[in-house]
Amino acid sequence: MVAVVVVEDERLTRRAISASLRGEGFEIHEAEDAAACRRIVAELSPDVALVDLGLPDADGVALAGELRAKGDIGVIVVTRRSDPAARIEALDLGADDYLVKPVHFGELAARIRSLLRRRRPEPQRRVRLGPWRIDLEARAVTGEGGIARLTRGEFNILARLIEAKGAIVSRDDLLNLISRHPEAADPRTVDVLISRLRNKLGDAQERRLILTASTLGYQVGETSADP
Ligand code: CA
Repeated sequence: MVAVVVVEDERLTRRAISASLRGEGFEIHEAEDAAACRRIVAELSPDVALVDLGLPDADGVALAGELRAKGDIGVIVVTRRSDPAARIEALDLGADDYLVKPVHFGELAARIRSLLRRRRPEPQRRVRLGPWRIDLEARAVTGEGGIARLTRGEFNILARLIEAKGAIVSRDDLLNLISRHPEAADPRTVDVLISRLRNKLGDAQERRLILTASTLGYQVGETSADP
């Protein structure tokens, strides 16, 4: 889920923006000032920050620049200030986008999605793995003999391995994917799901669709793009 920190000192505005974005499916963290924002960013590395320029404890323009300097968070300035000087300053400091209040909530959500698309190039969503065509978006696995009926957990594991593009994915990472309480879960659950996944994919040794990387974890065999 895309995580957004909403930095806004006016409680009602913050609540309204947060509620509308939650409704759009974003994970929202509310910050009433720059200090709270820095704490949330350090702890949770959200994907996007919405930054109000008039904050009680910092100049929002400086905060936007500070966040943007970290490089891995998208920054959208949301402000009452509509003067070109404020806009130019914010964009020059590296804000990715700029919206003047009152913001249209639908537009705000669309700007966030657009920002994420620009920052993250679309990963290959359809790949071939051995005899299978895998559509990561539709969560479908199809072969000559029909579709493979994977459970949610099995598919999540397969998708994670494919997204890692042959890099080893640790058991712990896979356990995080399939368990609500990974710290209490048995890592062997992963081995069991991998074994079921291999059965369903008919992964006999010579096909080598899913490889065991000694005790470290698992990796996917060679995939190719499925145009
Ligand atoms: Ca304010």
